[in-house]
Amino acid sequence: MSNWEKNVRKVVPYVPGEQPKLTSMIKLNTNENPYPPAPGVAKALASYDVDKERLYPDPTADVLVSALAKYHGIDKENVFVGVGSDDVLSMCFLTFFNGERPILFPDITYSFYDVWAGLYRIPYKTKALDEDFNIVPEDYFEENGGVVFANPNAPTGALMSLEGIRTILEHNRDVVVIADEAYIDFGGDTALPLIREFDNLLVVRTFSKSRSMAGTRIGYAMGDKKIIKYLNDAKFSFNSYTMNRTSLAMGAASVEDEEYFRKTIDRIVATRERVKKELKTLGFTFADSKSNFIFASYKTKKAEDIFTALREENIFVRYFKKPRIDNYLRITIGTDEEMDTLISFLKKYL
Ligand SMILES: *Cc1c(COP(=O)(O)O)cnc(C)c1O
Repeated sequence: MSNWEKNVRKVVPYVPGEQPKLTSMIKLNTNENPYPPAPGVAKALASYDVDKERLYPDPTADVLVSALAKYHGIDKENVFVGVGSDDVLSMCFLTFFNGERPILFPDITYSFYDVWAGLYRIPYKTKALDEDFNIVPEDYFEENGGVVFANPNAPTGALMSLEGIRTILEHNRDVVVIADEAYIDFGGDTALPLIREFDNLLVVRTFSKSRSMAGTRIGYAMGDKKIIKYLNDAKFSFNSYTMNRTSLAMGAASVEDEEYFRKTIDRIVATRERVKKELKTLGFTFADSKSNFIFASYKTKKAEDIFTALREENIFVRYFKKPRIDNYLRITIGTDEEMDTLISFLKKYL
């Protein structure tokens, strides 16, 4: 028997949420946006010149980087783009978490962080969220090799205040701190203004949730020019042409339509607040969510059983069989109609 497997980089992969191939279902399991992307996105795709596919795309992704820089009132040199924020975060882990000390992140958070740490052989330590699922900033004061957190956090939806983030930064001047703001458009203060003060801060965003473009795969990071330069050096050592031509055009079109963006977000936030009331009335408990999902628990019925019952109705929510959270369901906010169907089923079932 050959022994090539001893040289394999063995990893325990991330398991993404299910993407069922059903034509009719209520899909509330991966925090996608129930509304279509901005109308300009469809136009950009319709007017796309397919002959251009012969040519490599712009390796600097300039149309998209410029649109994002203008939108956030920063320079192009402050923006790094990638194939979804998973690609951006992975590149950040590879580039900045390169020390001997363990990196720190919460025990309950985006379950990709420990996967990248495993992939790149980065030592890590997790810090327990408090009883109410809040991040405790003081836990991140000890010496470490870097800090990463999602804000609002996933899958809890809980928001850390800007003061909390600031204290973490003040105690972590010598390592890179990553704020994963996948859900910040749905509520809460962004850490973005702090990039001017802290050159070791990276703020990471995605087009997958608030911009209804999970299928396009666009994410980005914002930070000081020096930190963005290091990220680009790593990216150009990995894959120069990460962003394809259509996603560059579609992404830029999305950023240009602020009115539509605000409108869909306002709608999701309004639905979220209504669903919170309904779930409370039904007897669910949950931490206050500032994201496009609610992480809820029901005292007298197992989350896993509710999950299975919903699944039989073709209503998909997310269930994590993990310590501390194995009696919770993460329910994405869909359209009002979808949420009404969910609520009426729960009324009958519980
Ligand atoms: C969805 C999500 C991402 C990944 O988003 P993509 O841009 O689709 O790769 C990253 N971080 C958190 C916390 C998320 O929930």
